[in-house]
Amino acid sequence: MLNFEDVIPDIPVKTGLHGMRPDASDVADSVATGRVRAEDKRIINGTADVNQLVPFKYKWAWDKYLSGCANHWMPQEINMSRDIAEWKDSTALTEDERRIIKRNLGFFVTADSLAANNIVLGTYRHITAPECRQYLLRQAFEEAIHTHAYQYIVESLGLDEGEIFNAYHEIASIRDKDDFLIPFIEILTNPAFKTGTHENDQALLKSLIVFACIMEGLFFYVGFVQILALGRQNKMTGAAEQYQYILRDESMHCNFGIDLINTIKLENPHLWTPQFREEIKALMQKGVELEYRYAEDTMPRGILGLNASMFKEYLRFIANRRCQQIGLDELYANASNPFPWMSEMIDLKKEKNFFETRVTEYQTGGALSWD
Ligand code: FE
Repeated sequence: MLNFEDVIPDIPVKTGLHGMRPDASDVADSVATGRVRAEDKRIINGTADVNQLVPFKYKWAWDKYLSGCANHWMPQEINMSRDIAEWKDSTALTEDERRIIKRNLGFFVTADSLAANNIVLGTYRHITAPECRQYLLRQAFEEAIHTHAYQYIVESLGLDEGEIFNAYHEIASIRDKDDFLIPFIEILTNPAFKTGTHENDQALLKSLIVFACIMEGLFFYVGFVQILALGRQNKMTGAAEQYQYILRDESMHCNFGIDLINTIKLENPHLWTPQFREEIKALMQKGVELEYRYAEDTMPRGILGLNASMFKEYLRFIANRRCQQIGLDELYANASNPFPWMSEMIDLKKEKNFFETRVTEYQTGGALSWD
Protein backbone atom coordinates (compact mmCIF):
# COMPACT_ATOMS: atom_id res chain seq x y z
CA MET A 1 0.00 0.00 0.00
CA LEU A 2 1.25 3.47 -0.79
CA ASN A 3 1.97 5.82 2.04
CA PHE A 4 0.99 9.44 1.79
CA GLU A 5 4.70 10.30 1.66
CA ASP A 6 5.18 8.08 -1.41
CA VAL A 7 2.48 9.90 -3.30
CA ILE A 8 3.25 13.42 -2.19
CA PRO A 9 6.95 14.08 -2.54
CA ASP A 10 8.83 16.00 0.10
CA ILE A 11 7.59 19.47 -0.71
CA PRO A 12 8.61 22.04 1.90
CA VAL A 13 5.49 23.63 3.33
CA LYS A 14 5.83 27.03 1.73
CA THR A 15 3.32 29.68 2.56
CA GLY A 16 3.21 33.05 0.87
CA LEU A 17 4.34 32.99 -2.75
CA HIS A 18 2.70 29.81 -4.00
CA GLY A 19 0.96 28.67 -0.87
CA MET A 20 -2.22 28.87 1.06
CA ARG A 21 -1.69 31.85 3.33
CA PRO A 22 0.76 34.71 3.39
CA ASP A 23 3.84 34.10 5.50
CA ALA A 24 5.04 36.42 8.23
CA SER A 25 7.11 38.66 5.95
CA ASP A 26 4.18 39.11 3.54
CA VAL A 27 1.92 39.96 6.47
CA ALA A 28 4.45 42.52 7.69
CA ASP A 29 4.38 44.13 4.22
CA SER A 30 0.61 44.32 4.12
CA VAL A 31 0.48 45.76 7.64
CA ALA A 32 2.77 48.53 6.42
CA THR A 33 0.66 49.21 3.32
CA GLY A 34 -2.77 48.34 4.69
CA ARG A 35 -5.01 45.71 3.13
CA VAL A 36 -4.50 43.99 -0.26
CA ARG A 37 -4.38 46.62 -2.97
CA ALA A 38 -5.11 45.81 -6.62
CA GLU A 39 -1.89 47.51 -7.69
CA ASP A 40 0.16 45.11 -5.56
CA LYS A 41 -1.06 42.03 -7.43
CA ARG A 42 1.21 40.30 -9.95
CA ILE A 43 0.56 37.35 -12.29
CA ILE A 44 3.84 35.68 -11.26
CA ASN A 45 5.98 36.13 -8.17
CA GLY A 46 3.25 38.18 -6.48
CA THR A 47 3.28 38.60 -2.72
CA ALA A 48 -0.33 39.75 -2.24
CA ASP A 49 -2.62 37.24 -0.49
CA VAL A 50 -3.74 34.70 -3.13
CA ASN A 51 -6.92 33.98 -1.14
CA GLN A 52 -8.37 37.43 -1.79
CA LEU A 53 -10.12 37.50 -5.14
CA VAL A 54 -11.00 41.18 -4.77
CA PRO A 55 -10.06 43.97 -5.24
CA PHE A 56 -9.92 42.96 -8.91
CA LYS A 57 -6.89 43.84 -10.94
CA TYR A 58 -7.16 41.33 -13.80
CA LYS A 59 -10.80 41.93 -14.72
CA TRP A 60 -10.29 40.14 -18.09
CA ALA A 61 -9.64 36.89 -16.22
CA TRP A 62 -12.76 37.26 -14.07
CA ASP A 63 -14.83 38.08 -17.18
CA LYS A 64 -13.57 34.93 -18.89
CA TYR A 65 -14.43 32.91 -15.79
CA LEU A 66 -18.01 34.26 -15.99
CA SER A 67 -18.22 33.51 -19.73
CA GLY A 68 -16.89 29.98 -19.17
CA CYS A 69 -19.63 29.38 -16.57
CA ALA A 70 -22.31 30.86 -18.88
CA ASN A 71 -21.23 28.38 -21.59
CA HIS A 72 -21.55 25.34 -19.32
CA TRP A 73 -22.61 22.14 -21.07
CA MET A 74 -22.42 18.39 -20.43
CA PRO A 75 -21.71 15.62 -22.99
CA GLN A 76 -24.70 13.42 -22.11
CA GLU A 77 -27.11 16.22 -23.06
CA ILE A 78 -26.30 15.56 -26.69
CA ASN A 79 -28.21 12.86 -28.47
CA MET A 80 -25.85 10.30 -29.99
CA SER A 81 -28.43 7.87 -31.39
CA ARG A 82 -27.98 8.94 -35.03
CA ASP A 83 -24.20 8.60 -34.76
CA ILE A 84 -24.58 5.12 -33.28
CA ALA A 85 -26.79 4.05 -36.19
CA GLU A 86 -24.38 5.55 -38.73
CA TRP A 87 -21.37 3.85 -37.18
CA LYS A 88 -23.14 0.48 -37.34
CA ASP A 89 -24.26 1.00 -40.95
CA SER A 90 -21.43 -0.15 -43.20
CA THR A 91 -22.64 2.09 -46.04
CA ALA A 92 -23.03 5.35 -44.04
CA LEU A 93 -19.34 6.15 -43.63
CA THR A 94 -16.30 5.44 -45.79
CA GLU A 95 -13.16 3.74 -44.45
CA ASP A 96 -11.33 7.09 -44.67
CA GLU A 97 -14.05 8.76 -42.61
CA ARG A 98 -13.83 6.02 -39.99
CA ARG A 99 -10.06 6.44 -39.87
CA ILE A 100 -10.44 10.17 -39.25
CA ILE A 101 -12.85 9.58 -36.38
CA LYS A 102 -10.63 6.97 -34.72
CA ARG A 103 -7.41 8.97 -35.13
CA ASN A 104 -9.18 12.06 -33.91
CA LEU A 105 -10.44 10.42 -30.75
CA GLY A 106 -7.04 8.75 -30.37
CA PHE A 107 -5.42 12.15 -29.99
CA PHE A 108 -8.15 13.90 -27.99
CA VAL A 109 -8.98 11.21 -25.38
CA THR A 110 -5.61 11.80 -23.74
CA ALA A 111 -4.89 15.39 -24.86
CA ASP A 112 -7.37 17.00 -22.48
CA SER A 113 -6.07 14.89 -19.58
CA LEU A 114 -2.61 16.26 -20.36
CA ALA A 115 -4.09 19.75 -20.41
CA ALA A 116 -5.90 19.22 -17.09
CA ASN A 117 -2.81 17.79 -15.38
CA ASN A 118 -0.73 20.65 -16.71
CA ILE A 119 -3.10 23.17 -15.13
CA VAL A 120 -3.73 21.45 -11.80
CA LEU A 121 -0.27 20.02 -11.10
CA GLY A 122 1.79 22.59 -12.98
CA THR A 123 0.58 26.05 -13.96
CA TYR A 124 -1.83 26.76 -11.09
CA ARG A 125 0.66 27.01 -8.25
CA HIS A 126 2.98 29.32 -10.20
CA ILE A 127 0.25 31.89 -10.92
CA THR A 128 -0.19 34.36 -8.04
CA ALA A 129 -3.20 36.35 -9.31
CA PRO A 130 -6.40 34.98 -7.70
CA GLU A 131 -8.56 36.11 -10.65
CA CYS A 132 -6.40 33.98 -12.95
CA ARG A 133 -6.49 31.04 -10.54
CA GLN A 134 -10.28 31.32 -10.53
CA TYR A 135 -10.32 30.99 -14.33
CA LEU A 136 -7.83 28.10 -14.22
CA LEU A 137 -10.15 26.21 -11.87
CA ARG A 138 -12.99 26.63 -14.34
CA GLN A 139 -10.70 25.67 -17.22
CA ALA A 140 -9.55 22.52 -15.42
CA PHE A 141 -13.18 21.40 -15.04
CA GLU A 142 -13.81 22.13 -18.73
CA GLU A 143 -10.85 19.89 -19.62
CA ALA A 144 -12.53 17.16 -17.54
CA ILE A 145 -15.79 17.71 -19.45
CA HIS A 146 -13.88 17.37 -22.74
CA THR A 147 -12.26 14.10 -21.67
CA HIS A 148 -15.75 12.97 -20.62
CA ALA A 149 -17.12 13.96 -24.07
CA TYR A 150 -14.49 11.93 -25.94
CA GLN A 151 -15.00 8.95 -23.63
CA TYR A 152 -18.76 9.28 -24.19
CA ILE A 153 -18.30 9.18 -27.99
CA VAL A 154 -15.96 6.15 -27.73
CA GLU A 155 -18.50 4.37 -25.52
CA SER A 156 -21.52 5.34 -27.64
CA LEU A 157 -19.92 4.04 -30.85
CA GLY A 158 -18.63 0.93 -29.09
CA LEU A 159 -15.03 1.57 -30.22
CA ASP A 160 -12.12 -0.48 -28.92
CA GLU A 161 -11.14 1.49 -25.80
CA GLY A 162 -7.68 -0.06 -25.66
CA GLU A 163 -6.95 1.03 -29.21
CA ILE A 164 -8.24 4.59 -28.78
CA PHE A 165 -6.79 5.32 -25.32
CA ASN A 166 -3.38 3.90 -26.27
CA ALA A 167 -3.12 5.75 -29.56
CA TYR A 168 -0.88 8.34 -27.95
CA HIS A 169 1.67 5.57 -27.38
CA GLU A 170 1.05 3.58 -30.53
CA ILE A 171 0.35 6.03 -33.37
CA ALA A 172 3.51 7.93 -34.33
CA SER A 173 1.81 11.15 -35.51
CA ILE A 174 -0.04 11.42 -32.17
CA ARG A 175 2.89 10.29 -30.02
CA ASP A 176 5.18 12.89 -31.61
CA LYS A 177 2.83 15.72 -30.70
CA ASP A 178 2.61 14.53 -27.09
CA ASP A 179 6.38 13.93 -26.87
CA PHE A 180 6.85 17.53 -27.94
CA LEU A 181 4.51 18.79 -25.18
CA ILE A 182 5.47 16.62 -22.23
CA PRO A 183 8.81 18.32 -21.31
CA PHE A 184 6.91 21.63 -21.01
CA ILE A 185 4.45 20.02 -18.60
CA GLU A 186 7.10 18.19 -16.60
CA ILE A 187 9.12 21.29 -15.88
CA LEU A 188 6.12 22.95 -14.20
CA THR A 189 4.96 19.86 -12.32
CA ASN A 190 8.42 19.21 -10.87
CA PRO A 191 7.97 19.99 -7.15
CA ALA A 192 11.46 21.54 -7.05
CA PHE A 193 10.61 24.08 -9.76
CA LYS A 194 10.05 27.61 -8.42
CA THR A 195 9.66 30.89 -10.21
CA GLY A 196 11.63 33.94 -9.13
CA THR A 197 14.79 33.61 -11.22
CA HIS A 198 15.22 34.95 -14.75
CA GLU A 199 15.75 31.45 -16.11
CA ASN A 200 12.75 29.88 -14.37
CA ASP A 201 10.43 32.78 -15.16
CA GLN A 202 11.35 32.38 -18.82
CA ALA A 203 10.76 28.62 -18.55
CA LEU A 204 7.28 29.24 -17.13
CA LEU A 205 6.48 31.78 -19.84
CA LYS A 206 7.70 29.39 -22.53
CA SER A 207 5.57 26.60 -21.13
CA LEU A 208 2.49 28.86 -21.07
CA ILE A 209 3.11 29.83 -24.71
CA VAL A 210 3.55 26.19 -25.77
CA PHE A 211 0.30 25.30 -24.08
CA ALA A 212 -1.92 28.19 -25.18
CA CYS A 213 -0.50 28.88 -28.63
CA ILE A 214 0.71 25.47 -29.78
CA MET A 215 -1.32 22.85 -27.92
CA GLU A 216 -4.71 24.50 -27.45
CA GLY A 217 -4.12 27.01 -30.25
CA LEU A 218 -2.74 24.77 -33.02
CA PHE A 219 -2.65 21.03 -32.19
CA PHE A 220 -6.42 20.90 -31.74
CA TYR A 221 -7.33 22.49 -35.02
CA VAL A 222 -6.83 19.77 -37.64
CA GLY A 223 -9.04 17.52 -35.52
CA PHE A 224 -11.69 20.16 -35.00
CA VAL A 225 -11.88 20.98 -38.72
CA GLN A 226 -12.17 17.30 -39.66
CA ILE A 227 -15.03 16.42 -37.32
CA LEU A 228 -16.88 19.68 -37.94
CA ALA A 229 -16.51 19.11 -41.70
CA LEU A 230 -18.20 15.72 -41.22
CA GLY A 231 -21.01 17.47 -39.31
CA ARG A 232 -21.41 20.01 -42.12
CA GLN A 233 -22.06 17.06 -44.44
CA ASN A 234 -24.70 15.81 -42.02
CA LYS A 235 -22.56 12.90 -40.79
CA MET A 236 -21.82 12.11 -37.13
CA THR A 237 -23.77 15.20 -36.07
CA GLY A 238 -23.81 14.26 -32.37
CA ALA A 239 -20.01 13.97 -32.24
CA ALA A 240 -19.75 17.15 -34.30
CA GLU A 241 -21.97 18.99 -31.85
CA GLN A 242 -19.80 17.83 -28.93
CA TYR A 243 -16.75 19.09 -30.81
CA GLN A 244 -18.43 22.39 -31.48
CA TYR A 245 -18.93 23.02 -27.76
CA ILE A 246 -15.36 21.88 -27.10
CA LEU A 247 -14.03 24.22 -29.78
CA ARG A 248 -15.86 27.14 -28.17
CA ASP A 249 -14.32 26.30 -24.76
CA GLU A 250 -10.87 25.73 -26.23
CA SER A 251 -10.84 29.00 -28.11
CA MET A 252 -11.51 30.71 -24.78
CA HIS A 253 -8.70 28.72 -23.10
CA CYS A 254 -6.40 29.89 -25.85
CA ASN A 255 -7.52 33.52 -25.49
CA PHE A 256 -7.11 33.40 -21.72
CA GLY A 257 -3.62 31.96 -22.16
CA ILE A 258 -2.72 34.75 -24.58
CA ASP A 259 -3.97 37.45 -22.17
CA LEU A 260 -2.00 35.75 -19.39
CA ILE A 261 1.17 35.64 -21.51
CA ASN A 262 0.83 39.27 -22.60
CA THR A 263 0.24 40.45 -19.03
CA ILE A 264 3.31 38.57 -17.79
CA LYS A 265 5.27 40.21 -20.62
CA LEU A 266 4.00 43.65 -19.58
CA GLU A 267 4.86 43.07 -15.94
CA ASN A 268 8.23 41.45 -16.74
CA PRO A 269 9.54 42.98 -19.98
CA HIS A 270 13.07 41.74 -19.24
CA LEU A 271 11.92 38.15 -19.98
CA TRP A 272 11.12 38.93 -23.64
CA THR A 273 14.68 38.89 -24.96
CA PRO A 274 15.58 38.54 -28.68
CA GLN A 275 16.96 35.06 -27.98
CA PHE A 276 13.75 34.04 -26.20
CA ARG A 277 11.65 35.29 -29.12
CA GLU A 278 13.75 33.20 -31.52
CA GLU A 279 13.23 30.11 -29.37
CA ILE A 280 9.46 30.67 -29.43
CA LYS A 281 9.44 31.06 -33.21
CA ALA A 282 11.35 27.79 -33.62
CA LEU A 283 8.87 26.00 -31.33
CA MET A 284 5.97 27.41 -33.32
CA GLN A 285 7.50 26.13 -36.58
CA LYS A 286 8.05 22.73 -35.00
CA GLY A 287 4.40 22.72 -33.89
CA VAL A 288 3.20 23.46 -37.44
CA GLU A 289 5.38 20.64 -38.77
CA LEU A 290 4.08 18.09 -36.23
CA GLU A 291 0.45 19.05 -36.78
CA TYR A 292 0.88 18.87 -40.53
CA ARG A 293 2.31 15.35 -40.26
CA TYR A 294 -0.70 14.44 -38.13
CA ALA A 295 -3.00 15.85 -40.87
CA GLU A 296 -1.27 13.73 -43.51
CA ASP A 297 -1.51 10.62 -41.35
CA THR A 298 -5.20 11.08 -40.56
CA MET A 299 -6.17 11.72 -44.19
CA PRO A 300 -3.77 10.12 -46.64
CA ARG A 301 -6.29 10.86 -49.41
CA GLY A 302 -8.50 13.92 -49.94
CA ILE A 303 -11.82 13.56 -48.14
CA LEU A 304 -14.85 15.72 -47.29
CA GLY A 305 -13.60 18.44 -49.63
CA LEU A 306 -10.46 18.66 -47.50
CA ASN A 307 -6.91 17.66 -48.30
CA ALA A 308 -3.60 17.77 -46.47
CA SER A 309 -2.27 20.76 -48.40
CA MET A 310 -5.27 22.87 -47.31
CA PHE A 311 -4.24 22.02 -43.77
CA LYS A 312 -0.69 23.20 -44.44
CA GLU A 313 -2.12 26.59 -45.42
CA TYR A 314 -4.55 26.61 -42.49
CA LEU A 315 -1.85 25.77 -39.93
CA ARG A 316 0.38 28.53 -41.30
CA PHE A 317 -2.53 30.94 -41.09
CA ILE A 318 -3.22 29.98 -37.45
CA ALA A 319 0.48 30.05 -36.49
CA ASN A 320 0.74 33.61 -37.90
CA ARG A 321 -2.29 34.60 -35.85
CA ARG A 322 -0.83 33.12 -32.63
CA CYS A 323 2.49 34.89 -33.26
CA GLN A 324 0.75 38.18 -33.84
CA GLN A 325 -1.38 37.70 -30.69
CA ILE A 326 1.72 37.47 -28.50
CA GLY A 327 3.65 40.21 -30.30
CA LEU A 328 5.87 38.21 -32.68
CA ASP A 329 6.28 38.79 -36.40
CA GLU A 330 4.33 36.48 -38.70
CA LEU A 331 6.24 33.34 -39.70
CA TYR A 332 4.63 32.58 -43.05
CA ALA A 333 4.08 35.31 -45.63
CA ASN A 334 0.58 35.62 -47.12
CA ALA A 335 -0.94 32.51 -45.51
CA SER A 336 -4.72 32.61 -45.94
CA ASN A 337 -7.62 30.78 -44.28
CA PRO A 338 -9.03 27.94 -46.43
CA PHE A 339 -11.76 27.25 -43.82
CA PRO A 340 -13.56 30.57 -43.19
CA TRP A 341 -16.59 28.62 -41.88
CA MET A 342 -14.55 27.71 -38.78
CA SER A 343 -15.04 31.21 -37.32
CA GLU A 344 -18.79 30.67 -37.38
CA MET A 345 -18.24 27.47 -35.39
CA ILE A 346 -16.15 29.27 -32.78
CA ASP A 347 -18.71 32.05 -32.42
CA LEU A 348 -21.42 29.59 -31.46
CA LYS A 349 -24.02 31.24 -29.27
CA LYS A 350 -25.84 29.27 -26.63
CA GLU A 351 -29.22 29.70 -28.29
CA LYS A 352 -27.90 28.83 -31.74
CA ASN A 353 -27.27 25.20 -32.46
CA PHE A 354 -25.53 24.74 -35.78
CA PHE A 355 -26.45 21.11 -36.24
CA GLU A 356 -29.93 21.57 -34.80
CA THR A 357 -29.80 18.32 -32.90
CA ARG A 358 -30.47 19.90 -29.56
CA VAL A 359 -33.54 21.92 -28.75
CA THR A 360 -33.28 22.78 -25.08
CA GLU A 361 -31.18 25.32 -23.28
CA TYR A 362 -28.85 24.12 -20.56
CA GLN A 363 -30.73 24.32 -17.27
CA THR A 364 -28.77 26.12 -14.63
CA GLY A 365 -29.16 25.61 -10.88
CA GLY A 366 -31.74 28.40 -10.77
CA ALA A 367 -34.15 26.22 -12.75
CA LEU A 368 -34.00 23.23 -10.39
CA SER A 369 -37.21 22.08 -8.83
CA TRP A 370 -37.12 20.73 -5.25
CA ASP A 371 -40.39 18.79 -5.38
FE1 FE B 1 -8.20 23.49 -23.01
